[in-house]
Amino acid sequence: MTRFTRQLPHRLLPFILGCFLASVTAIAQSTDALSALSAARILNVETGELLRDHVIEIKGNRIQGIVRASNASTTAVIDLGDVTLLPGLIDAHVHLTGDAEAQGYQGLAASVPRNTLFGVKNAAATLRAGFTTVRNVGADGFADVALRDAINEGDIVGPRMRVSGPSLGITGGHCDNNLLPPQYDHSSMGVADGAAEILKNLRRNRKYGADVVKICATGGVLSKGTAIGDAQYSSPEMALIVNESHRRGMKVAAHAHGTAGIKAAIVAGVDSIEHASLIDDEGIKLAAEHNTSLVMDIFVSDFILAGGEAAGFLPESLAKERMVGAAQREGFRKAHAAGVNIVFGTDAGVYTHGLNARQFPYMVRFGMSELEAIQAATTKAAELLDFDEVGSLKAGHFADIIAVPNNPLTDISVLQTPVFVMKNGQVIHQVKKP
Ligand SMILES: [Zn+2]
Repeated sequence: MTRFTRQLPHRLLPFILGCFLASVTAIAQSTDALSALSAARILNVETGELLRDHVIEIKGNRIQGIVRASNASTTAVIDLGDVTLLPGLIDAHVHLTGDAEAQGYQGLAASVPRNTLFGVKNAAATLRAGFTTVRNVGADGFADVALRDAINEGDIVGPRMRVSGPSLGITGGHCDNNLLPPQYDHSSMGVADGAAEILKNLRRNRKYGADVVKICATGGVLSKGTAIGDAQYSSPEMALIVNESHRRGMKVAAHAHGTAGIKAAIVAGVDSIEHASLIDDEGIKLAAEHNTSLVMDIFVSDFILAGGEAAGFLPESLAKERMVGAAQREGFRKAHAAGVNIVFGTDAGVYTHGLNARQFPYMVRFGMSELEAIQAATTKAAELLDFDEVGSLKAGHFADIIAVPNNPLTDISVLQTPVFVMKNGQVIHQVKKP
């Protein structure tokens, strides 16, 4: 026996032990005892029906079924009392990586690793607020991929994530960082001009773990030197992005505020328009025809304008926000009335993480029923994000379940104060009854 083979068992021991422990954990999960959640009301978000005298049975990380309380096949019932149970909420437009408190020039000081660590904190805050799934749109250095993977592997606590990696955009556009003068020679990681650079960046994003593609179709509010109405990627460039992304199984989310850029992105075939601030009647018609989802962040405007320059927002950003905020809310009202698919997305990261649900009352104020607003953040968001096992309380779905006080169908604001959050069958947050 050589020295090498004699050493082999010893060297393999931690590995073998690791495999053994892993298989024990897997068996323990697969035979997890049945448990159940009971509450005064369970909301079927697809129909609006409120079930009473029922329990949700959970096995491992999945919902086993919803049955009459009298037929429950377990006595391990967590009774949450006079609350409403509904599926974990979904935010289709967040920026978890980075410091939400650092706007404008303040944001330049943080490294990618530091921004990733801010992401750890922000992911936990988002989950505790009842958002068990998010789509992160734009992160330099693939900080979002690291965050998603660490959550999926159980190293840290956070929502399920779809991530884009670096956003694609033109030099000097909204997805570039234009704060520094030329001698710093800075260009954001996702900047890609023309067909060759676009394909290279898109394929690199896929290589390093992106699920979705984020592009900048127009100027933006918070970027320096970009005009809201400025269409950035050309129509052929966007068509190329859509074609290559779809061929590779990725959807395309297009940041677009200006009217012309919104329409060009819809015609190019993107899957969602982010912001859609200055959408006009023709744009609404096009979105309906192309089945394009609109992700309209109609709360954030109040936050930006209240924070002002003291919060680090550039004077030009505040001027732009004043141009788009009110118009966006009217566009939301019209698009909803026209039957366009609207998906819940907030731009959290521009404001404090965990306040995502503040947008719900705005959605109701600007035309949605309470149920429609909830569907925008559950069934509809799950569809846009290609998650088919979240977004409703169904047998076989992941046990991502929240409880809110009273009845969200009569008072949407209760979504801001979940008293119980479960993700993947694990209790993340629970307010103890007094
Ligand atoms: Zn954004």
